[in-house]
Amino acid sequence: MKYIASFAVAACLATTASAQDWKFGDGAAPERWSLQNSNYALCDAGLNQSPIDLGAPNAVADIELETSYGETEAKLSLGNQKIQLDFPAGMGMVSGGLDFSLLQVHFHTPSEHAINGERFPLVGHFVHATEDGKLGVLGIMFKEGEANTGLATIIDALDSGSGAEVNLDIETMIPDNLSVYRYMGSLTTPPCSEGVNWHVSKDIVTASADQIAALSKILGSSARSIQPLGNRLLVAPAE
Ligand SMILES: [Zn+2]
Repeated sequence: MKYIASFAVAACLATTASAQDWKFGDGAAPERWSLQNSNYALCDAGLNQSPIDLGAPNAVADIELETSYGETEAKLSLGNQKIQLDFPAGMGMVSGGLDFSLLQVHFHTPSEHAINGERFPLVGHFVHATEDGKLGVLGIMFKEGEANTGLATIIDALDSGSGAEVNLDIETMIPDNLSVYRYMGSLTTPPCSEGVNWHVSKDIVTASADQIAALSKILGSSARSIQPLGNRLLVAPAE
């Protein structure tokens, strides 16, 4: 990621097809990415990995999450099992006293996190970082239903390819009531770096069957297997 060069975040899916030396599995069996490249040791040895099943929280609290999203000119970036939109500076979220700037959103089919064993057909990961490089992700899961206008804009731009400018209203992809699960986890793709401030919305938004199919055609099976919660704190929203 260009704005923080020192940061091996390359990440939640930012590798290019030619450089990529790992691949998604079926989302169920362990991927064993450490066997592909020793730089990915943390993927198999880490105790704070993502995604997890959110269905067994060990704390309940309404996490205060303040977001400032709106309409913006995003830049489309397509790759091997990758649909990503990079955002200019100016939007973000404040959580746990940390001020996160929104960098990009990318998608996975199906959702990576599960709730009581259930994965949803699509998830958007809104990736943020603080000025000193702490990562914060907001996950918004989609179920089949009414079409989503933000996704419609993105899907319309797919034919234009990488580099296309997309005028996107991010709010259209965010639920009205943003109650979140909160825990500390990792990037879900190599190098699986930990210290990621995960937020996953409890409310699920909708996308049409056609929209899910259009994204899934490019993304394929792109969810990492569920990782153990271990000794971590997992906070679920009260409401
Ligand atoms: Zn992701």
